[in-house]
Amino acid sequence: MSATLSPIEQATVDRFGLHDEDVLHDLAQHADDHPVCIFLTRGTSCGQLATHAVVCTACNRQCGLVCDTHAAIVTSSAAQTKHAACQASAAMRDLVRLVPL
Ligand SMILES: [Zn+2]
Ligand SMILES: [Zn+2]
Repeated sequence: MSATLSPIEQATVDRFGLHDEDVLHDLAQHADDHPVCIFLTRGTSCGQLATHAVVCTACNRQCGLVCDTHAAIVTSSAAQTKHAACQASAAMRDLVRLVPL
């Protein structure tokens, strides 16, 4: 069915990540484009579908992507963290802000 979508319609589908089977199939074929949560737990990345971009409040650069579960953790965590790219150091909830994807 997705073959009948115009390029603009397909772009809209991609942007909003509709959970259509054809879309999921396309995502599976482009694994590198599939936004997944980068939150690490004991060295293993979460891998859930990402819902938010994490942006450093010090340098405004994107640090990664997180899923709903880890978005909640990131915004409530007082753990000291450091953004390697700009060397800013603060409590995680103060150092990052989330932008919905
Ligand atoms: Zn930064
Ligand atoms: Zn996650």
